[in-house]
Amino acid sequence: MSKARPPGSVRPFVLHSRPLAPLTTWGVGGVAETLLAPRSRDELIDAVRWAQSEGEGFFTLGGGSNVLIGDGPINVPVLLTAGVSDIELRVEGASAFIDCSAGAKLSNVLGIAIKEGWSGLEFAAGIPGTVGGAITGNAGALTGSAASSVVKVRTLEEDGETVERDSADMGWSYRRCGLIEGSGRVVTGASFKLSVSTGERVRAGVKEAIEARRLQPVGCRTAGCVFKNPQGQSAGMLLDKAGCKGLVQGDARVSSVHANFIENAGGCSARDIVRLAAMCRKMVFDMFGVTLDFEIKTLGVEEEMIYAGL
Ligand SMILES: Cc1cc2nc3c(=O)[nH]c(=O)nc-3n(C[C@H](O)[C@H](O)[C@H](O)COP(=O)(O)OP(=O)(O)OC[C@H]3O[C@@H](n4cnc5c(N)ncnc54)[C@H](O)[C@@H]3O)c2cc1C
Repeated sequence: MSKARPPGSVRPFVLHSRPLAPLTTWGVGGVAETLLAPRSRDELIDAVRWAQSEGEGFFTLGGGSNVLIGDGPINVPVLLTAGVSDIELRVEGASAFIDCSAGAKLSNVLGIAIKEGWSGLEFAAGIPGTVGGAITGNAGALTGSAASSVVKVRTLEEDGETVERDSADMGWSYRRCGLIEGSGRVVTGASFKLSVSTGERVRAGVKEAIEARRLQPVGCRTAGCVFKNPQGQSAGMLLDKAGCKGLVQGDARVSSVHANFIENAGGCSARDIVRLAAMCRKMVFDMFGVTLDFEIKTLGVEEEMIYAGL
């Protein structure tokens, strides 16, 4: 592979000094020295290969709905997939396939399924973010997850090659895709398989999924659940019983509706969130002896701060 040309000289998707906070649902994060913002599949591949050739690693950002980005300057290049968001529906007999790029919003994919009356993605109602993010974290709810509806995943490997894999080879587990997380691979696209239904039935499934969310905070800036559920237990319940609801650090506040959500109550910093999360984690450990693992992913946040207190 040839060495990359200087950033910005011929690649319009290479941007500099871009604030990351507006690209996250928490509204928190510092300024990226280099933001790669491709607008087509070809540019996405070019951007990844450029970042790989620079050899300093990079961070892939989808909808920013499950990440905590540190307050300081972010020196690692950030690859933003949101500009590459094609979605295509193919019908084959009693099944439909939705082929989409990594940056497609999961809600838009669901929107097409609802409109056309295809079932299988109802679980995704209310889950923000992109297809790439949903695959990486095996996003889901009680009724299903990415693993249950994805049939093919397309990636760019660390050596710059494109590969398409069957869902069975992705190494899915609870809120994790073993083949992607921590691997250096980038999801470039995926195909979902849906089954024949009616618009009415799909809408009823979506309504049910939304109903199940009534105990989650709405209308405030969060990043979904901060901690994973420990085996057989609910992190939210443990945090609630440990007395975390309503706790505050700076402008970060544990939701009074659901203790596993931290809200940005104003001008919150990443530091506020990390301190509050560490405090909650310690309270759960002290009361139940259970160590909570983070569901959210971090960029530019010091490990010592995250695990402080335990
Ligand atoms: C109000 C609210 C409710 C939520 N409810 C749920 C829920 O019910 N269930 C659930 O599972 N989650 C939920 N979440 C969390 C979040 O929406 C999901 O985890 C979502 O799938 C993250 O997608 P994203 O595109 O925003 O990923 P990001 O937050 O941008 O990234 C998350 C991780 O995925 C990686 N990543 C992103 N795109 C790619 C790619 N193309 N290739 C490789 N790696 C990539 C990132 O590097 C990062 O490690 C909720 C969040 C909010 C704010």
